[in-house]
Amino acid sequence: MITTVRGVRDILPAEMPGWRLLEQTARQIFSSYGYQELRTPIFEKTELFARAVGATSDIVEKEMYTFADRGGDSLSLRPEGTASVVRAFIENNLQRTLPWAIYYMGPMFRYERPQKGRFRQFHQMGCELFGAEGPLADAEMMAMVLRFLRRIGVESSLTLEINSLGCSQCREPYRGQLLAFLQTRFESLCEHCRQRLQRNPLRILDCKGEGCRAVARQAPFMKDHLCGACGEHFQGLTTTLTDLQLPFAINPLMVRGLDYYNRTAFEVTTTALGTQNAVAAGGRYDGLVAEMGGVQTPAIGFAMGMERLALLLDAARVDASPPLLYLVAVGAAAGQRGVLLAEQWRDGGLPVVLDPLGGSMKAQLKRADRAGARFVLILGERELAEQAVLMKNMVDGVQQVLGWDAVVAQCSGLLT
Ligand SMILES: [Zn+2]
Ligand SMILES: [Zn+2]
Repeated sequence: MITTVRGVRDILPAEMPGWRLLEQTARQIFSSYGYQELRTPIFEKTELFARAVGATSDIVEKEMYTFADRGGDSLSLRPEGTASVVRAFIENNLQRTLPWAIYYMGPMFRYERPQKGRFRQFHQMGCELFGAEGPLADAEMMAMVLRFLRRIGVESSLTLEINSLGCSQCREPYRGQLLAFLQTRFESLCEHCRQRLQRNPLRILDCKGEGCRAVARQAPFMKDHLCGACGEHFQGLTTTLTDLQLPFAINPLMVRGLDYYNRTAFEVTTTALGTQNAVAAGGRYDGLVAEMGGVQTPAIGFAMGMERLALLLDAARVDASPPLLYLVAVGAAAGQRGVLLAEQWRDGGLPVVLDPLGGSMKAQLKRADRAGARFVLILGERELAEQAVLMKNMVDGVQQVLGWDAVVAQCSGLLT
């Protein structure tokens, strides 16, 4: 037997109603804020991710599925969504028609150690907004994320955390101060952080190690060392969130690994799955478009992991859409006629599931029940002779006889 690749899985039909609800709700909410869907290729030139995600990042160095195609070009399966969106933005000359607001959803690929809830093919949905510079756009994006999460049923236990990462002007002097502080606490840092101290002192702030966390809490914070413009931006964001009555917490330890991330960073976390988990993460990357060869364009975006969202879904809101009409034809002659009738009724606009296995009435009714059918149409020898079906309401058991020609008219009313 050939199985799936390690860390990869099927999403079986029983799970799909939840996934469809996520996708439909996302489309509805995002488009109501003016976002349009973009579908980018699943593989790109490796250099795209090296440039956008960072050649020395863990993702690019250790986690990408990279391969040479038959022409010898180095290609990679996408490990995240933003790089391709930025490439599409520049390549399709969309810089002249700002704003550009898009959403995407689909599979991403990372060669990570498989563990509970983490897969090597996983799914993300996200939004990117190009052209808007001010804090109103940041606040509105957070409002949209929260509206989406509330709509899928994550009502309580949500926390919005924000921070400012500053800009190229104020981050350099801050970095120097942070480094000087961390050097005085060198002994308390974990091995990994000691190694990356000079290269990337900011990442030490979000190290999960106990010693590092204690040090980080006493470190100088970026938010207290913002330049005038960054301070104003952050102030504008908190004011707008307050006006929108969106509760938030400032998390000064939230950092991002890459230089082109600036100013606003945000995360939405929940305790609904036990421990504190991030369900959405995003922020500004005003420097990325220029970094990728485009015209300097402010931008902000976020992404959400769909596997985790699927776990959070309110089961009561998931519509499994069971068959409305399930046709049970008993015997060879009825089966022959059943195929024709089902097509005729579908021509009339009805969704009709014809039991595909046939056999005894009892066996077919059992399958109709298992499928969750709301109405069963029974076509036995007697009904065949009378050119009728016996229609049974599976909820209350009420039965009625319908002529074949009356089925469409009678049942159309059930399609609400
Ligand atoms: Zn600044
Ligand atoms: Zn550490």
